[in-house]
Amino acid sequence: MQCKAGTGDNWNAGVPFQIKKQSFRLQSVDLAFKQLAILKLYDGKYYICTMNTGLQLYNTLSRKKESFQPLNAPNVGMYVCGPTVYSDVHLGNCRTFMSFDLIFRYLKYLGYKVRYVRNITDAGHLEGDRDEGDDKFAKRAKLEQLEPMEIVQKYTLGFHDVMRMFNTLPPSIEPTATGHIIEQIEMIKIIIENGYAYEIGGNVYFDVEKYSKEYNYTILTNRNLEDMLNNTRELGGQDEKHGRLDFALWIKAKPETLMQWQSPWGMGFPGWHIECSAMSAKYLGAEFDIHGGGMDLAATHHTNEIAQSEACSHHQPARFWMHTNMLTVNGTRMSKSAGNGFLPLQLFTGDHPLLKKGYSPMTVKFFMMQAHYRSTLDFSNDALDASEKGFKRLMAAVNLLEKLTVSEQNDFDIDALKANCINAMNDDFNSPVLIAELFEAVRIINTVYDGKAKISAVELAKLKQLIQDFVFDILGLKDEESYNLELNSVLEMVIDLRKEAKENKDYATSDKIRIGLQELGIQLKDSKEGTTWSKV
Ligand SMILES: [Zn+2]
Repeated sequence: MQCKAGTGDNWNAGVPFQIKKQSFRLQSVDLAFKQLAILKLYDGKYYICTMNTGLQLYNTLSRKKESFQPLNAPNVGMYVCGPTVYSDVHLGNCRTFMSFDLIFRYLKYLGYKVRYVRNITDAGHLEGDRDEGDDKFAKRAKLEQLEPMEIVQKYTLGFHDVMRMFNTLPPSIEPTATGHIIEQIEMIKIIIENGYAYEIGGNVYFDVEKYSKEYNYTILTNRNLEDMLNNTRELGGQDEKHGRLDFALWIKAKPETLMQWQSPWGMGFPGWHIECSAMSAKYLGAEFDIHGGGMDLAATHHTNEIAQSEACSHHQPARFWMHTNMLTVNGTRMSKSAGNGFLPLQLFTGDHPLLKKGYSPMTVKFFMMQAHYRSTLDFSNDALDASEKGFKRLMAAVNLLEKLTVSEQNDFDIDALKANCINAMNDDFNSPVLIAELFEAVRIINTVYDGKAKISAVELAKLKQLIQDFVFDILGLKDEESYNLELNSVLEMVIDLRKEAKENKDYATSDKIRIGLQELGIQLKDSKEGTTWSKV
């Protein structure tokens, strides 16, 4: 069997097909995935081809949109820097993970086989970006009087709960820094052997000056290295680093350090940046397709990740670097210190001075999807109210789909609408444009329901598929009302059990049910007609 790579847009047998500027005719096609085909041509040879999906994505490395072709189609490797689990996940992080969830879902829709790795940072993250300050976990552990790993467990569970409420898919692999100490030590050893790191008294530092003689240290942000040096404080008399920009790969532990491991350089713990280089290489290889994270990570964490990976394997690790933008509140950057950094749960309950009420997780998600991931997104009560209305309008139309009657006549071209949805997502995952197209679907549904236009059975089936694909599978939205219906049936059952308990004069059980529900925010109200429930 002879295999060569080529690209094409049309897999139908009999059509002309181009491989390296030569035209062939297809005899048959065996689609392994949507993205990969084994083509048998009339010359009797076989070819493996990847399809040109037309996906363009903005690459921070080149500062422009580029055509996306994976290294190993149909496989795509994507690494996203996950949360540091020492406190409740903040909304800015949620936006990043929701954006990459959208990207993950759309790549899968295109037929790629995606391995999505999102780590959990559970060690080694100091408060300062430049190896200074306390360990975030140790500080929190002291504050909450818990073991550092209890802190990790508590906030990892909380993070997963929030991600579930936002209906994001779990990543394919969620590796932890503490679970990959050996890999990090091995990588540091190679970087030292290659001459890009040095050890002093149990600390290991990356030699930025040596590295920048051969590689471009500021490739990701295009900053001037001289300016960076001038903007970094000079080394003090106590400082053992050779250069001002050098950063720690391994940090010597003090006797009281709570989390420490044995290494060739003594007891210590890894620097923050090395975990992502080690874990991405382990699960995706030295070179992979996409590396993502919040844009605040580009200047230091991602810059250092590239340096570490290149110093180890001589490869730029990711071909595409993608960064999500910041959140603002009423025009000001969201931050804890500004007092406007509300947590996801506060946003759901409305329990924050800046919020006039709570918004459901899907309203918040819909609101976030109405902005492009590379734009800043401004939170305000008015904007959230508008999204709430918009989301309800979308779901109301979706719920009418099953009630539409079909006709012999047809007034709509659903293929054209689908092409517009794909074009929006192919343009660097432009979810706001996609949502605008979905409101065209809403208009079609409402017009047909009102009897002002007609749709054929074939077009209606296409419309249903389009809603399933783009609303539920790609945007990852869900109908919260249908969840309420399920909740309603569960509560009816519980209310019946309470009624039975009361009839049997088992007041302990009936009170237990009433108080238990109250603690969950559900109020029971007894009247002559029976018992009703409401959310408090
Ligand atoms: Zn990272």
